[in-house]
Amino acid sequence: MTVTIKFCGGARTVTGSMHLVSTNKANILLDCGLFQGHRDEFYAVNSNFSFDPQNLDACVLSHAHIDHCGNLPTLIKKGYRAKIYSTSVTRDLCRYMLPDSGHIQEEDIKYVNKINKRKGLPPRFPLYTKDEAEVCLKYFRTVEYHKRFSLSDDVDLTFFDPGHILGSAIPILDLKTSKGSMRIAYAVDLGRYDIPLLRDPEVPKDIDYLIIESTYGGRTHGSMEKAEKELATVINETIKRRGKIIIPSFALERTQLVIFCISELMRKKKIKKIPIFVDSPLAVNITKVFRENWEYFDDVTRKIFLTGEDPFGCDNITYITDVEDSKKLNTETKPMIIISASGMCENGRILHHLRNNIENPNNTILIVGFMAKDTLGRRLVEKVKKIKIFGQQHEVQANVVAINSFSSHADANGLVDYVKSCGDRLKQVFIVHGEEEQSNILRKNIKKLDIKVQVPAKNDIVFLKS
Ligand SMILES: [Zn+2]
Ligand SMILES: [Zn+2]
Repeated sequence: MTVTIKFCGGARTVTGSMHLVSTNKANILLDCGLFQGHRDEFYAVNSNFSFDPQNLDACVLSHAHIDHCGNLPTLIKKGYRAKIYSTSVTRDLCRYMLPDSGHIQEEDIKYVNKINKRKGLPPRFPLYTKDEAEVCLKYFRTVEYHKRFSLSDDVDLTFFDPGHILGSAIPILDLKTSKGSMRIAYAVDLGRYDIPLLRDPEVPKDIDYLIIESTYGGRTHGSMEKAEKELATVINETIKRRGKIIIPSFALERTQLVIFCISELMRKKKIKKIPIFVDSPLAVNITKVFRENWEYFDDVTRKIFLTGEDPFGCDNITYITDVEDSKKLNTETKPMIIISASGMCENGRILHHLRNNIENPNNTILIVGFMAKDTLGRRLVEKVKKIKIFGQQHEVQANVVAINSFSSHADANGLVDYVKSCGDRLKQVFIVHGEEEQSNILRKNIKKLDIKVQVPAKNDIVFLKS
């Protein structure tokens, strides 16, 4: 039997994860992520698949981050009619993540078409609309952790927990081959040990082939204790200056983690109790899904829920959905914390908060997440002094602080340790989901373990030996 993997997206880059596993009897797509980049590249990359969606037998999702699930509506638009397999939490999260992505694209195209009209250029269309995103929700079929499920005559699927975000999974494909069996693990994305809210990553046994992420292939994170200390210092210093703390944050997972940590610091009296505003309708909905699925959290968080407390709500937190309530924050002058999306500052309400606060040296822009190349968030991290928001130049006078230790990705050591723990059957590792430099550092480190390892390029095909 011939088994191949084609790396269709998210290879030698972070976003757009998509890999095709083919056997004699089935074509199975692992993830269908959205590639994020400049507008023209975004449309060119995301509208073209290097396979025929109608020939697929299954699509398996690792988790609900948009770089892993965000191109599903295009897949459906291009004729995919098989099932989308995920954990139940991932499906619940996709109910909000996918329509939100459609809405962002509609808004972006509205803005582009206004300019095009003035220039006499033809109108453009979004990759998919909010309504088109909603259509794909009916294709979901949920599979719970550790329950082996048959995808085809020759492929079984089992989900393990990578501890990356709530509901995330390491899909394991067990293939029946002429010589027996073959086990492929897809650890993209992989989480960390001992971070709040989430369970520790699980290591499935007897893996033959491992596909692994490399976002932080060559970088290490500080501990969570260090992150919390830095967070307390930044907040206390900004309160002293009577400034505001603006936190651009991914609506999914990072926002809830930051709320949890800030609430803990306030409870322990390490920072003053000041108002916290979570200004993101998406984050409000995601937090609701988190509360409904509390039994998937780690032991500590589950205990908090069991005592009737809410780890994402205390008397000084306000969740904002209404635009008018969001605008009211502009005129407030007292110290406060505003957490808003999008995480990489490319769109959403965070842009309004940055525009209103970035020129005041008393304020702090606190970066708590990964910022991809060519994003406004990345320019802030790189301490660029002048930035453009809504077409207007702004001088960056506010204090910009980046705390990397909140990452929900394994770091350089975590990734190598994970490979080590995979066991003796491991034949080869494929490194994806990383900027090339990071993937190459991980490749060198895995090579030292005497394990065959490769950083495939987009659309490379590998043949697996059983
Ligand atoms: Zn992720
Ligand atoms: Zn990812």
